[in-house]
Amino acid sequence: MKSFNLETLQVLLDKLASILETLVLENCDITDSQLLVILPPLSHCSQLKTFSCYGNHISLGILQVLLHECTRLSQLTHGLYPAPLESYESRIPAKFVHPEKFPQVCAKLAQVLTDIRPSLRVQICTYSCDWCMVCQLYMLEPNGKWEVTEKYRYPSRIRCNSCVNPLLGDCIFFM
Ligand SMILES: [Zn+2]
Repeated sequence: MKSFNLETLQVLLDKLASILETLVLENCDITDSQLLVILPPLSHCSQLKTFSCYGNHISLGILQVLLHECTRLSQLTHGLYPAPLESYESRIPAKFVHPEKFPQVCAKLAQVLTDIRPSLRVQICTYSCDWCMVCQLYMLEPNGKWEVTEKYRYPSRIRCNSCVNPLLGDCIFFM
């Protein structure tokens, strides 16, 4: 879903609150203020098991609020969230997180994640390539270390040059 109607989403969440099990709001250009609007109806989705909102431009403060809100959903076991804007150079999301800023963000997120329900599996998506259909995900382990995994939707697909050589950036594709 590339563009979405906030009012429609609110109404849908209200209507489906008692039965909704999966909510995927990936790459919808959702902003902080829009996310705050859907938080109240989202908090009533008592059957929600999986929630994903990666690919949106969310700040660290709002992500922390969202994580806290999600822990109240007792059935929720898996949450997929974007690396917040503070993870990037000048808060402009790029393909790759900033090597010095992202660890600072991780430290702040670790504080929140250790406070919240351990059964909630939270993954932070730092990078995704639409062409390769690959995501890089960070998950906080019980020992306090971040585990990094890559998720491929099409494992056999040849990787684009920008994924193979991150230092080359976004521009060069070798297909
Ligand atoms: Zn790629």
